[in-house]
Amino acid sequence: MQMMRKKTRQVQVGGVMIGGEAPISVQSMNTTDTADIAATLTQIKELAEAGCELTRLAVPDATAASALGEICRQSILPIIADIHFDYRLALAAIKNGVNGLRINPGNLRDPEGLTQISAAARKRRIPIRVGVNSGSLNRRMIEYYGGITAEAMAHSALAAVRQLEETGFEDICLSVKASDPSLTISSYRLLSELTDYPLHLGVTEAGTAWEGTIRSAVGIGTLLAEGIGDTIRVSLTADPCEEVKAGYAILRALNLRQRGAVLISCPTCGRTQVDMLKLAKEVETRLIKINAPLTVAVMGCIVNGPGEARAADIGLAGGQGEFVLFKKGEIICKLDEDIAVETLFSEIEKMEQESGERAQ
Ligand code: SF4
Repeated sequence: MQMMRKKTRQVQVGGVMIGGEAPISVQSMNTTDTADIAATLTQIKELAEAGCELTRLAVPDATAASALGEICRQSILPIIADIHFDYRLALAAIKNGVNGLRINPGNLRDPEGLTQISAAARKRRIPIRVGVNSGSLNRRMIEYYGGITAEAMAHSALAAVRQLEETGFEDICLSVKASDPSLTISSYRLLSELTDYPLHLGVTEAGTAWEGTIRSAVGIGTLLAEGIGDTIRVSLTADPCEEVKAGYAILRALNLRQRGAVLISCPTCGRTQVDMLKLAKEVETRLIKINAPLTVAVMGCIVNGPGEARAADIGLAGGQGEFVLFKKGEIICKLDEDIAVETLFSEIEKMEQESGERAQ
């Protein structure tokens, strides 16, 4: 069932639309040193292959800001510069061709600096995300609202919005990320009631790939299920491609985006006749690069396995040292265990080509 999305204004970051009727985009943040141009471009390529649509780069100093010029020239993804403390880094990033900015109102409050950023961004027609973070919330807001509360988070973002609006700038996206998913949810709910600017969802400092994915799925997923949110970033202490993978899994779980394959794998039991853990892990890893919206099943026995494998677009059901390969409900062949995954992926790639989804 498709939920009703809250109607928001639209901004454009490079070629990606955020808000309005645009699909909910999946973004990430490079973990590379921005000053290392080659490493940053390599990771951008990896992110793009994983399905990332926008990436953010840290701009901690002038060296990083100047590296943005070459990165933006060569990047295959739109680049958002992440700016803290120093408005001059934002100006340098804009001059060097970034497609969007993220500023933190908790540490970038100088009205004159904000006016200069807004003028430069307007001239280049790039949007600004006001990114409030529970870890760096404005002290005055914390005192006024009696702690790090949803009100303090939402009103901190709105105060920065007013400052930008006073300079005539409205090309704005907002985020109010907390490390606590409950606070994240209540902050975004409040913000969504108070504004129609598009919202970038995320649970900040969510944790490792396992814990962080769960915390993000709860925080981001709850909001998306209520129709709130226009773009998402899953924050993980992991390879950023894992963030992209988790982001699409959340969207797929809510039927909001169909990009990429869904893996159905049996939980294993006493009937399991193949090394399911190894098999599921290998298939899951290789599916990251598949863009087509396919359902892929890998099952461990001949009891429930054939049923699930038959119902999926393509699937393997395990027997003793061999698998049966199903495609669109039909048995294609029996395969020895050692060639099962290769054969499965050569069929998946054919299906992807047929569905025309390979082009990104
Ligand atoms: Fe057990 Fe077979 Fe079900 Fe897997 S598919 S959990 S092996 S009964």
